Amino acid sequence: MSTLNIAIDGPAGAGKSTVARKVAAELGLTYIDTGAMYRALTWKALKQGLDLGDELSLGNLAHSTKIRLIRASDGSLQVECDGLDITDKIREPAVSGAVSTLAAYPAVRKRMVELQQAMAARGGVIMDGRDIGTQVLPEAKFKFFLTASLAERARRRWLELVSLGFNPDLQELEAQITARDTQDENRETAPLIVAPDAAVIDTDGLSIEEVVDKIVGVVTGKSE
Ligand code: C5P
Repeated sequence: MSTLNIAIDGPAGAGKSTVARKVAAELGLTYIDTGAMYRALTWKALKQGLDLGDELSLGNLAHSTKIRLIRASDGSLQVECDGLDITDKIREPAVSGAVSTLAAYPAVRKRMVELQQAMAARGGVIMDGRDIGTQVLPEAKFKFFLTASLAERARRRWLELVSLGFNPDLQELEAQITARDTQDENRETAPLIVAPDAAVIDTDGLSIEEVVDKIVGVVTGKSE
């Protein structure tokens, strides 16, 4: 399986990262969370008090920042920014609120895509994000687009944040997810769209395990 690459795209809270991590474990692939990379950069921009309207500075920041995704023993990813572990910080509401603004800039995306393509160059990765099947890995052997209703996505994000020790408001989360999706779908560069050759999986009413089984089934040729 080592030359195989899998692309997983979809809107916020569709379960992409949990599913991708589990598929990676089952198939012996390396999981790469590209959203975590945009989040890490956003965290640093906020920390430095950079103007989020200044594309040039943010593009420079993308070039001068070292982001590493390190696999922990439980399969989760530790996110390092310039040597600092910021795994929990990148889920903070301030980062979630600003990340799509930063991710819309071509200068930022160009650098992130370069890094992501380098990570996938040897094959054997499963990567999740918004533009993986369309821009980062257009040649990926398997492409999936995960969706779910807004209510279900907000509920999942709520559970995730509660497990991280935050105290989120469900309605606010729905509003934030909607705002982020709208920004991601309507930006000019690499908007969130379904790649023409992606299999769409509506995960409403499906458990994580069922989604994982579907993907593993398709990849191993055991199901369509
Ligand atoms: O996947 P996650 O929700 O953590 O992604 C955070 C944000 O990063 C997205 O809302 C989007 O703006 C941006 N992103 C992107 N392209 C990717 C991954 C994430 O634009 N491949």
